[in-house]
Amino acid sequence: MSTGTVCAPDAVVEFRQVSKTYPGGVAAVRDVSLRVRRGELVAIVGPSGSGKSSMLNLMGSLDRPTAGHVLVDGHDVAELTDREVSALRATRIGFVFQQFHLAVGVPVLDSVADGLLYAGIPLRRRRARAAAALARVGLSHRVHHLPHQLSGGERQRAAVARAVVGGPAVLLADEPTGNLDSASGAAVLALLRELHASGTTVVVITHDREIAAALPRRIEMRDGRVVADGATDPIGAHG
Ligand code: ADP
Ligand code: MG
Repeated sequence: MSTGTVCAPDAVVEFRQVSKTYPGGVAAVRDVSLRVRRGELVAIVGPSGSGKSSMLNLMGSLDRPTAGHVLVDGHDVAELTDREVSALRATRIGFVFQQFHLAVGVPVLDSVADGLLYAGIPLRRRRARAAAALARVGLSHRVHHLPHQLSGGERQRAAVARAVVGGPAVLLADEPTGNLDSASGAAVLALLRELHASGTTVVVITHDREIAAALPRRIEMRDGRVVADGATDPIGAHG
């Protein structure tokens, strides 16, 4: 993959005047410019419908902007073919969503190992890397369990293991604690902080003000716009 667009060398995600208008006319993201640097831990906050998930989907190249440019790990998504975007997503981006649907009857180890399928790695090595990822999330004692034998918090930790097993440039999490009780939610957030401390770039959407307040950078959304950004060097209209 090559791109003629140069982005800041340590930017993992960069938005340049990005807008997303859905068919039907909902302007979910409006003229957003921002940069997520390698090694950052960023919270996206805002009321329901303010465009948080739309932003994350753009960051993860699950969607393309209707205006502006999205650069992921140095690549302008608009300049890539669908196949290249899929490869970028599979190799450079880890996703965690509110609900994690583990395959029924499949041991956790294999569900996590499936996160490496794209890479053409032999099964035995996929399993070894999956075991290492599960150890990172504190689930070494659950690798041979089936999904229904795990708690909600454990399933979400397995989701994080699957998201990081390939060593992504950025981990994107959309309300990962939304379906968990507060103790399990706190454990998942602690895990994201640990991953961040060990070098992973993390962007997490949360509607929990307390959680967000504890994170180093908060991007606040309202009606598709960024209304506040705790970045030390925000870019965009104001410099
Ligand atoms: P949040 O995650 O902050 O709740 P979303 O990004 O999901 O916000 O939604 C922002 C706006 O875009 C909402 O008005 C929502 O209804 C709309 N929207 C989201 N996804 C779609 C879609 N696929 N098609 C049409 N409208 C959408
Ligand atoms: Mg959402």
